[in-house]
Amino acid sequence: MSKCTILIIEDEKNIQTFMGKVLKQHDYRVLSADSGAQGLEVIRSQCPDIILLDLGLPDMNGDDIIREVRTWTSTPIIVISARTAEKDKVRSLDLGADDYITKPFGTSELLARIRASLRHSNRLRTNDPLYVRPYKHKGLVLDFSKRLLTIDGREIHLTPIEYKIVACLAQNSGKVITYASILSDVWGPYADSDNKILRVNMANIRRKLEADPAQPKYIFTEVGVGYRMAEDEEG
Ligand code: CA
Repeated sequence: MSKCTILIIEDEKNIQTFMGKVLKQHDYRVLSADSGAQGLEVIRSQCPDIILLDLGLPDMNGDDIIREVRTWTSTPIIVISARTAEKDKVRSLDLGADDYITKPFGTSELLARIRASLRHSNRLRTNDPLYVRPYKHKGLVLDFSKRLLTIDGREIHLTPIEYKIVACLAQNSGKVITYASILSDVWGPYADSDNKILRVNMANIRRKLEADPAQPKYIFTEVGVGYRMAEDEEG
C-alpha cells in the first residue's frame, strides 16, 4: 500500500518542521509549502491526500485557499489556526474545510484529526456505505441498519430527531460538525438557523448517553462551533 501524502502549508518554519517530523515518524509522506501560492502549486502538481493549512500566511488569506481548492477537489483540508475566535473556525468549515486544530496542539490530537478526515474522505471516494458497520466507542454501539443504539448491551431509546443527530455525528466521528450542518442534515434545507432546538435535543441525548453529562465520553462540545463525536474505535 502506498503511503498517504500530506501537504503542510505553514510559514512558521518551526511548526512546519515539527509537524513534518511527527508525520514522517507515523509513515506519512510529507510535502511542505511556506506560502499560499506555493501551496496551491503543490496541490495542483502533487495531488496530496490531505492538506494542513495555516490560516495566517504571508501572501494569501487561508480562506481564499480553501475557496480556490474547493472549486476543483474535495481533498480534506484541516485548518491550523492560532486564532481562538469561533467565528473564524466556523467560516473556514462553512467554506469547505473538514476540521480545524488550534495552536498549540499535541501530536496525538494532530494524528487523530488526520485519521478522522482521511477515513471520512476514503469512505466518500469508495462510495462505501457508511451503514455497513456499526459505530463503536467505549461500550456504545450504534447499528445504523437497525437504527439501534446500545450502551454496554442495554438499549437506549432515542426519539427520531435524537437518532438523526447522533447518527449524523457518528458517521462523521472524530470530526467537528458545525451547528449549521447538523441543523440542515437533520431538519433539512429550511431548518431554522436558531441553535436552540439543537441544544435542547443535545441536552436530552446527553442525559440518555452520558453517565456524567458534565464529563462526556461520547459527544463533545466545541464551544461556539458545533459538536464532535469520539472517534470510532474500529476506524
Ligand atoms: Ca502563519
